[in-house]
Amino acid sequence: MTDKYRDDIIEGEDQEQDEEKREPEKFCSLCRRPESQAGKMIDLPNNIHICSDCMQKSFDMMNQQMNKGNFNYADLLHMPGVSMIDLTGLQNQMAQPKKEPRKKKEKQQEPALDLKKIPAPHKIKAALDEYVIGQEYAKKVMSVAVYNHYKRVATDTMDEIEIEKSNMLMIGPTGCGKTYLVKTLAKLLDVPLAIADATSLTEAGYIGDDIESVVSKLLAAADNDVEKAEHGIIFIDEIDKIAKKKNTNQRDVSGEAVQQGMLKLLEGSEVEVPVGANSKNAMVPLVTVNTRNILFICGGAFPDLENIIKERLNKQASIGFYADLKDKYDNDPHLLEKVTVDDLRTFGMIPEFLGRLPVIFTLDGLSEEMLVKILREPRNAILKQYQKLLALDEVKLEFDEGALHAIAKMAMEKKTGARALRAILEEYMLDIMYEIPKDDSIGQVIITREYIEGTGGPKILLRGQEVPLLEAQQG
Ligand code: ADP
Repeated sequence: MTDKYRDDIIEGEDQEQDEEKREPEKFCSLCRRPESQAGKMIDLPNNIHICSDCMQKSFDMMNQQMNKGNFNYADLLHMPGVSMIDLTGLQNQMAQPKKEPRKKKEKQQEPALDLKKIPAPHKIKAALDEYVIGQEYAKKVMSVAVYNHYKRVATDTMDEIEIEKSNMLMIGPTGCGKTYLVKTLAKLLDVPLAIADATSLTEAGYIGDDIESVVSKLLAAADNDVEKAEHGIIFIDEIDKIAKKKNTNQRDVSGEAVQQGMLKLLEGSEVEVPVGANSKNAMVPLVTVNTRNILFICGGAFPDLENIIKERLNKQASIGFYADLKDKYDNDPHLLEKVTVDDLRTFGMIPEFLGRLPVIFTLDGLSEEMLVKILREPRNAILKQYQKLLALDEVKLEFDEGALHAIAKMAMEKKTGARALRAILEEYMLDIMYEIPKDDSIGQVIITREYIEGTGGPKILLRGQEVPLLEAQQG
C-alpha cells in the first residue's frame, strides 16, 4: 500500500468521523427548506426551526390582520406546522433583549462610620475633614457632641446621672458650610436627616407648617421606620429668624411662639405624626415618635449679633482703665467667637430655648484662600466634578492658580459664601463644555486667570501635546 493511498484512507476516515460529529442539518418547519438554503434558523423548543423568511412572512401577516382589525388567532392555525407555536409570544421574545438586565444588587452600603461602635471624636472629625474645608473648631465641637449624643443613646443612661442632650446651635454667615456640615455628618453616620426652615414653622393652628412637621419629615427620611427616625438628626436652619420681635404688642406667631413650641420637641417628647403625609387628617394613620434621642441642630447667620457682642465688650471695656480702647473690636475677625448666651438673649432668643441647645459654637466666614481650597480639595470638589466630566471625553482639564483665585475673589464679592462658587464656575465652563466635545483633537484645556477676568482665553492643547500644568504656567 503506497503512502498516498494510506493517507487517502485516513483522510476519508477523518471526514466520516467529522460528519458523525456534525449536527444534522436543520429544516424550516414551515417551508421545509434546509438551513444551507434558507439561511440561519431561529430555534424554538421541541426541535422546531424557522427560517427568517417564514418568520418575517408570519409577522407581516399578523400585522396586516391586526391593522385590518380582524386578526384571528385561529388563522395562524391554518399555517402548516404553526399550530403549536405561539408566534405573538415569540415576537415579544425576539423584541426583548435575550439577557434580562441584571437586577441591580441592593448594595448594603457600609456607613463610613459605624454607629454601633460609636466612632471616637477624632475619627468623626477626620471623616468630616475630607469634605468640609476649614471650620476646624466647629468640626471639633460637633464631633464631640455627636459622640456624646450617640453614647448617651446607646447606653441609655437615664439613671442617677442623666447625660444632657447635646443639641447644638451653630452660628455662622450664610454659605459657610452649616447645612453642609450637618448633611455630611448624617451621611457619614448613616442616620436619617430632616432639614427644615424655621421661617416656615408656625405655632399649631396658623398658616404654615406646624412645629411637629419636622418630625414627620424625619420619619419620611427614615422610610417611615420609627426606630431609625428616633436616632436621626433634625436640622433647623434660619433659626435667627424666629427671634423675639422687639417692641411689639402684637401676638408673635412666628417668633417667640415658635421658640416656645419647640421646647418640648428639643427636650424630648412623644409626638404623634402622620405616616407618609405632611399633615394630620382622618385618612392617614398616626405613629408616635419619641424625640428624646433625636439630635437637634439649629443654625443661623444671626446678622447684627456682632454689634450686640461689640456693644457688650465695649461696655465692659469702658469701665475703668480700658475706656480708651473703644474701637478695639471694630475690625476684629474673631468677634463672633466671643458670643455668649446673654448676647443671644439680647438678640431675641428666649432663655428656655437656649437652655435646650447646650452646645453653641460659631463658624468662620470663608476667606479667599478657603474658597480656593473648597474649589479644589474636598472629595467631591466642584473642580473634580468638571475634570471627571471632561475626562470622559479624554480631555484633561486644569485650572491655573490665578484662575482659582480670580473665581474665589468674585465669590467673595457676592457675599453668599461658597454658594456663589458653583454659579460662577458654571458660567465660565459653559462655553468650554459646549465647544470641547466638537473637536476630537483637543487633549487638554487650561483655564487661566485671563479667561476668568475676561482679558484672554483658556489654553487649549492638542492631543499628544499635553503638558504638566506647571510647565504650561511657565510657558
Ligand atoms: P450655610 O452655611 O448657609 O448652610 P451651606 O452649608 O448650604 O451654607 O453651603 C453651601 C455650599 O457651599 C455647600 O453645599 C458646599 O458645597 C459649599 N461649602 C460651604 N462651606 C464649605 C466648606 N467649609 N467646605 C466645603 N464646602 C463648603
